[in-house]
Amino acid sequence: MLPLVIAPDPILRKVTEQVSLPLSAEVQALAKQMFPAMKHYDGIGLAAPQVGRSLQLMVVNTPLEPTAYVNPVILKRSWKKVAMEEGCLSIPGVFGIVKRPQKILARYVTLGGQTREEWLDGLMARVYQHEVDHLNGVLFIDKTKEITQGSELLAKYTQNEKIKM
Ligand SMILES: [Zn+2]
Repeated sequence: MLPLVIAPDPILRKVTEQVSLPLSAEVQALAKQMFPAMKHYDGIGLAAPQVGRSLQLMVVNTPLEPTAYVNPVILKRSWKKVAMEEGCLSIPGVFGIVKRPQKILARYVTLGGQTREEWLDGLMARVYQHEVDHLNGVLFIDKTKEITQGSELLAKYTQNEKIKM
């Protein structure tokens, strides 16, 4: 099982590198290891830095099947934002309310090497945005204005980090 990286590990704060195309067998293999890891750690999404790889790769447990997103970006965001409680496998025990656009236009490359554009809504838009944040070194605790659980743990997860405003 791929080990899970826990904050304040500095890899979680690095901007990840683009995956070069066509996809290497190594990246394919990493993605395929991330599916069982996401299930094992009981997450709805998992980004490569959370398993120690600074790459633009993430997996999401969509309603249809677990899906990998390579070099994912957000092209458009709805004006309408929704607030929802989030947590993160790399910040165990902490939850907080985060406001995010309700809908986004996502562009990514599939494991099959195809570029796709797709509007995501609701929970899938939420998870996609949370994971893309990971690829940019951003954690949900940077965005929350209301910690609902585990505020006493925050200092442990952010020690030695510069305060981001
Ligand atoms: Zn996370």
